[in-house]
Amino acid sequence: MSTNSIASLSFPAGHCVSKAEFSVGLFINGEYSPSANRETIDVYGPATGKVIARVPAGQASDVDRAVDAAQAAYETVWGERCSGRERGRLLMKLADLFDEHADVLASIESMDNGKPFSMARAIDVPEAAACLRYYGGWADKDHGKVIEVDDSKLAFERHEPIGVVGQIIPWNFPLLMFAWKLGPALACGNTIVIKTAESTPLSACYATQLIAKVFPPGVINVVTGYGDPVGTAIASHMRILKVAFTGSTAIGRSIMAAAARSNLKPVTLELGGKSPNIIFDDADLDQAVSWAAFGIYFNAGQACSAGSRIFVQETIYDEFLERLTRTVKALKVAQPFDSDAFVGPATSKLQFDRISAHIQSGKDEGATVHLGGKRHGTEGYFIEPTVFIDVRPEMRIAREEIFGPVVVIQKFSDDDDIVAKANDTIYGLASAVFSRDISHAFNIAKRLHAGSVWINCYNQLNPQVPFGGYKQSGIGRELGQAAIANYTATKSIHVNLTQANPR
Ligand code: ADP
Repeated sequence: MSTNSIASLSFPAGHCVSKAEFSVGLFINGEYSPSANRETIDVYGPATGKVIARVPAGQASDVDRAVDAAQAAYETVWGERCSGRERGRLLMKLADLFDEHADVLASIESMDNGKPFSMARAIDVPEAAACLRYYGGWADKDHGKVIEVDDSKLAFERHEPIGVVGQIIPWNFPLLMFAWKLGPALACGNTIVIKTAESTPLSACYATQLIAKVFPPGVINVVTGYGDPVGTAIASHMRILKVAFTGSTAIGRSIMAAAARSNLKPVTLELGGKSPNIIFDDADLDQAVSWAAFGIYFNAGQACSAGSRIFVQETIYDEFLERLTRTVKALKVAQPFDSDAFVGPATSKLQFDRISAHIQSGKDEGATVHLGGKRHGTEGYFIEPTVFIDVRPEMRIAREEIFGPVVVIQKFSDDDDIVAKANDTIYGLASAVFSRDISHAFNIAKRLHAGSVWINCYNQLNPQVPFGGYKQSGIGRELGQAAIANYTATKSIHVNLTQANPR
């Protein structure tokens, strides 16, 4: 096995892991290699802004090699060659390895992405393992039906894998998105070519060493690199038969276009959001305030489901704002390895600049910065948790996804007013309703154009519950049984049971 290069990360003194050393080559057919032209990408730690590792900058020909490996594995050891029971066993084994390596995986994630270690350890890694385990359970349970036609014929479905599938993941939950993509695709018997985000490839690189212990070579191929050429090569590849993408709406659109122009591969997209979080005047205010803060500032606001538009019924607006102010002021913005850090840095300089530009646009368009609005500290890409008030619906900060720790607060009067305001967006990923009147909350939930509605909570994602967007927030659903359908080809078989002539 030719090892390309090694990442060597050192963690702060006193941390549960002191060091991590692992291969960071392209992982193709179970082996590590440099990219075709030997170019690399510098990976930055967002808490310091310093380079922490280098990974290969994959090229289109590397994607070709990965597809060759995935196709060979599909035909020889996976797909119809491996029972669902065995696929499930291997997925569960990988889940166990994620759990065993949770401290180091979470440490890598925290250093690479900037999220607090405590969050990565409590959420990202265990949820990634749970997702793999959940789909391990599905691997021998995705059956077709027998369908009644008439007495002389029998018709039934076979649920088959699609073949080689391509997957492109973002940088906000790198390991979790890796697991969301791997789980259902492998459970159904597909082989994979997956691209990590250029700014956060390291947890998946580490995971390849765990994958190598469990899966036959070629079943999972990981190509690090930039969107162009690696993502574009995946989206337009003639031998990749399905593509799944999580990221921005703009790139999702280009992936769909590339799929349409090439081989019409089916596309699932999990895209942006501008999710409304609705607080009625009969809500438990303490509960609403703490979930609202969690809804926007969790993961430094870098979540597609972030509750970035808070709507408060006008009768309780002042009280809500006062309590939210206290809660937000108490949130600790700190280095990811500080044990009480809640808000980490933006994940990259690019993202820091985008968020800062949005904050500036809010100021320029006349909104009031109620809290935050500035860089935090002088090192790394930290931004203060920011609250805008006096916001008009046409402002950019009220309409565009910011993907950072920035929330806009607006008022509403009654049900019709809030339903109109909440749905006045091109997006439809998530939403929340806070009210003690559960039937009222449920009736509002029905009227919201969003793939998820949380009642009296926020950001609740479970492997068994579908997640995905209405409108320009996406196509298809991830998680739950819904994701199984994304990776299944249904074949209908008709059997003639008589000697009768055609009719
Ligand atoms: P963001 O703009 O927030 O960084 P992106 O949608 O650009 O989000 O990134 C999500 C993923 O999509 C990353 O892995 C990125 O490299 C990839 N990507 C970016 N551009 C393209 C493209 N043109 N085709 C395919 N994938 C792309």
